[in-house]
Amino acid sequence: MTVKEILEKRSTFSFEVFPPKTDPGMEKLVGKDGVLEKLYTLNPDYISCTYGAGGGNVGKNLEVLDSVKASGKAIPVTHFTCIGNTKEGIKEQLDTYLEHGIDHMLALRGDLPFGWTGTGGDLHYATELVKFVRDTYGDKFTIAVAGSPEGHIQCRSLDADIAFLKQKPDNGADYIMTQLCWDMDQFRYWLDAIRNAGIWMPVDVGIMPVLDQAATINMALSRNGCVMDRALCEIISKNWIFPNPFDKEPFDAAVDQKKADFKKAGIEYTIKQIDEYRACGINGIHLYALNKYEDVAYIAKEAGLLNL
Ligand code: FAD
Repeated sequence: MTVKEILEKRSTFSFEVFPPKTDPGMEKLVGKDGVLEKLYTLNPDYISCTYGAGGGNVGKNLEVLDSVKASGKAIPVTHFTCIGNTKEGIKEQLDTYLEHGIDHMLALRGDLPFGWTGTGGDLHYATELVKFVRDTYGDKFTIAVAGSPEGHIQCRSLDADIAFLKQKPDNGADYIMTQLCWDMDQFRYWLDAIRNAGIWMPVDVGIMPVLDQAATINMALSRNGCVMDRALCEIISKNWIFPNPFDKEPFDAAVDQKKADFKKAGIEYTIKQIDEYRACGINGIHLYALNKYEDVAYIAKEAGLLNL
């Protein structure tokens, strides 16, 4: 069954992992008793793997997805970007994915590498990639696309962003995977707005577990301009590591305790957020697993995702 077919029947539950840079990291993820094997015990519908801008980690991305495919325990979904890719190069890579039995993709423009002003490839926007894949491969791929509830950081307005999102199903995309969004009022506004705009694709919500102070701030602000709501800001402030959470040698004597307290409060916050999302009538929860098992499994269990 494809993810599209599952979404026609019920909500989905899935994980996202990234290709580790080192061999020990790979072993920890795909090796025996590794993180993937543990994640399978939670019965996810699919596991997606990120794709480095410019395809720098294509080999490791494929190795991770091969491992998911070989397990037969979840549908492998590759992320794929336009960055630095010619049409010929895209076709070559997508042919390889198909040869490996990987026929699900998240079609993205990609994050522009530092200093770049465009994709440096033949395609400039995700919607062009969706069209190219449909024109070239027909229905061979199930295609997910990104949606940004707060508006993509480079969009000139939320209205423009939604208008461009509408082109994605028009060009053949099957479902939306969302960018992280902690601002629930904004999310509800966006969900109404896209439906009003005639975008009826299922919405699979991306959830970034709040586990680490520096990583949370980094994810929100280094690229995406995400609003952190009062509840999240309080968790950060109450557990602030002095002089700041990015300092490699903090002088804060309570650093270990603060890290533990932050994680505990962050996990509770994440679970509540999943409750709120599910009450909005969304179609799936996609947990950024960050190549971890224990905390992610706890969140999935407590949030009742294992019953989906
Ligand atoms: P697009 O939909 O192409 O939009 C990009 C910008 O261009 C937006 O501001 C949009 O409003 C504007 N736009 C779109 N079409 C037009 C047009 N025709 N004319 C003018 N403006 C237009 N990045 C990676 O590099 N690797 C990953 O593995 C990865 N995984 C991700 C997973 C998820 C779930 C999400 C949500 C994002 C992921 N990203 C990843 C990040 C993503 O690549 C970036 O957010 C990127 O900056 C935009 O990608 P997009 O597909 O949303 O772009």
